[in-house]
Formats: sequence, structure tokens, C-alpha cells
Amino acid sequence: MYNFSFQYHNLDYAYMAFDIKEDQVPAALDAMRLFKMRGCNVTMPCKNKVAQCVDELSPAAKIIGAVNTIVNEDGKLVGHITDGIGFVRNLKEHGVDVKGKKMVVLGAGGAATAIEIQAALDGVSTLHIFNRKGRSWERALKLADTINANTSCKATVSDLADEASLRQALEASTILTNATSLGMAPHADTCPIPDASMLRPELIVSDIIYNPKQTRLLQMASANGCATFNGLYMLLFQGAEAFRLWTGKEMPIEPIREHYFKG
Ligand code: NAP
Repeated sequence: MYNFSFQYHNLDYAYMAFDIKEDQVPAALDAMRLFKMRGCNVTMPCKNKVAQCVDELSPAAKIIGAVNTIVNEDGKLVGHITDGIGFVRNLKEHGVDVKGKKMVVLGAGGAATAIEIQAALDGVSTLHIFNRKGRSWERALKLADTINANTSCKATVSDLADEASLRQALEASTILTNATSLGMAPHADTCPIPDASMLRPELIVSDIIYNPKQTRLLQMASANGCATFNGLYMLLFQGAEAFRLWTGKEMPIEPIREHYFKG
């Protein structure tokens, strides 16, 4: 979608993919400066490491502690996070208004944190965050404290392995969003919800994963009669915001939606 957009605007840029490990982030950032690359996106598991290594952070990236977009401003690398914006647009595309709703979000990584803060700012009344006890646990606790101190949303954090708490939170909620990587290719056989009976038909179930388009979670939820949607439009709109940051131009949303996102 980026290369299509560069051609659309007659911009002499190319978008390429580079596979690096977390400990190679400082070297990758040096290469960006050396080659005068205008910018890049960052995906898992490097988002937090990049936030620690860039020269400057946008206000949102600072609060969240994660970066998914870097802009090279004449050698100064500025980290941004556009996932929250993409998530909100995805909800709107599917006619879901979070205001006053109770919500369960699974995950506390880069994308999950952006979503959780955005959901709280957009008026979710109760936010139940579930993550495994590991890498992101402490950050999830701090995030809930920040949300509770600064918004009217009441946030809680629980262990994803605590099935009783998960069931209880889902029973009390309107929206479930999976923002973990469980279910993503090549591990498409994994699922963050251990038991289909937790998904009652009234629950709106979204997954921010877009590969595969129908995760096991979404298949399970559809079979139970829940309204479901995946992360495709979140991908489109977080990308549109990154495109604007690099080029100052708007991404041609409609042709991209028509060519790449239908079906
Ligand atoms: P991340 O920062 O690495 O976070 C991954 C999350 O998944 C963390 O909460 C992690 O827990 C959890 N997790 C990973 N493996 C797990 C396992 N085996 N059991 C339980 N939890 C597990 O990655 P991210 O950038 O937030 O991305 C997460 C997912 O969202 C990916 O599938 C990515 O493709 C998707 N995504 C979609 C969009 C979109 O535009 N639609 C945008 C961004 C991301 P710990 O940190 O505790 O290990």
C-alpha cells in the first residue's frame, strides 16, 4: 500500500522489509541515518526497544513506550506510534462506538498499549486488560495506574492464564479485542481464549491480527453468533498516518481499499 501511494503521488521513494532482531535495533537506526532513509515502520518484537533508542519521541510514543513509525528529520530519528489511531478508525469502520462500554483487551505489548490508552481516552467505562505474567506484566500494571489516575475509565490487569477472571470479565463486557500475537501466522492454530463457551453471542469480538484474516478466535466467535472483525482496516489507517508523517501527503485510501482490502 505504501509503494502504491508513492507512485500515486509521484514520490521517488520505495518501501522495503528488513528482518532484524531486537539487539540489532541500534545498528539498524545507525544505518537509517547513514543511508538517509526518510523513515520506517517497526513491528514486533522491536517496538519497545526502538522507543529506548531513537533521539526523540512523540507525546503518544512517550506515554506508551513503544514506536511503530520512525521519521528521520535530517539525522534526528523521531519515534511515533500510530496504532491507536488505526484502531479507532477500525472500530468506526465497523460502526462500533466504545463510549460508555465495558471492554476486555488481551495483551500489553506495543499495539495493545496504544489501543488501551486510546480506548480509555475515547470513553470506555471499564477496561479489563489480560496479559501473561512475563515481559509486559509490570508495564501493564503501570499503564492501568496511568489510566486510572488520568481518565474516567476504570482499568484492571489480570493474568491471561486466570480463566475464572477472564470468563467473569467477558460476561460483564460488550467488546473483546485480541491485541496479542496469539493466532497470527505462522502460529494460526493458537488462540488466546481457551474455551468457546466464554464467547456469548452478544459480545463484539475483534482481533487486530490481519494474517490470517480469520483467526481461530474470530472463527470461534462467528460460530457462536458474535459480530466479528479483523485488523485489516487498523493496518490501513495506522499506515495512512505513518504515510502522512513521512511525506506530508494523504494516503489514497479509496483506491487502496478497493484494490487491496476488499474480499
Ligand atoms: P508485541 O509488542 O511484541 O506484543 C505482543 C503481545 O502478545 C504481548 O502482550 C505479549 O505478551 C503477547 N504474547 C505473545 N506471545 C504470547 C503467548 N504465547 N501467550 C500469551 N501472550 C503472548 O507486538 P505488537 O506489535 O503489539 O503486535 C501484536 C499483534 O498485533 C501482532 O499479531 C501484530 O501483527 C498485530 N498488530 C496489528 C496491527 C494492525 O494494524 N492491524 C498493528 C500492530 C500490531 P508479553 O509481552 O508479556 O510476552
